[in-house]
Amino acid sequence: MPRFRYPCPDCRSTNSLHDPDCRFDGTPWEDVERAYASILGVLAGGATTEGRLREAVDGPWDRLHSAALSRLRHDQRVRETPGGALELLSPAEYREEVAVPTEESLRTIYEHGSVPGCHDHAIFSLVAYYRSVGFSWAETRERVVEWLRESGTWARGGFEESSPEEIVDSKRHVYAQAYGWRQSAREAAAVIERSLG
Ligand SMILES: [Zn+2]
Repeated sequence: MPRFRYPCPDCRSTNSLHDPDCRFDGTPWEDVERAYASILGVLAGGATTEGRLREAVDGPWDRLHSAALSRLRHDQRVRETPGGALELLSPAEYREEVAVPTEESLRTIYEHGSVPGCHDHAIFSLVAYYRSVGFSWAETRERVVEWLRESGTWARGGFEESSPEEIVDSKRHVYAQAYGWRQSAREAAAVIERSLG
């Protein structure tokens, strides 16, 4: 199945299998990519208001453009300036923004660390997350190794491996397969929250 460079603006799928209730199921991928590319193309020329952006994109602004813009803002590739214009984050700014996950279950894992009983899901989800935001394997490995140490996860034990590096290396297939992270993050976060409670 081919994979796509941009996520579906509604369900975030990056292949042709959308969620059952996705608004864009059946929309040709060329249209999705065109909407993203055209928004990013305009914003690459500098910050601009949403009104000007709507006029500047190729063709009429439609619900696909609106959804793609929302997705870009939600995924922190585009932000609003204090003056109310829309601005593309530089690659360095974007990396800094996404290095610390902000979505609920991932944030729980990231902040509290993992506990025995959910290590697999927790590490799986972080590796898959960093892959999904475009980090290289080396960067992903470095971030997750650092998280294992700094979050206290490694100190809590429950691993068969002899070092954080070895643990992350055992999850390389997760990176290679570009799995989704949401399901495993939810499961790990539920275990972590119970253990905190
Ligand atoms: Zn979709």
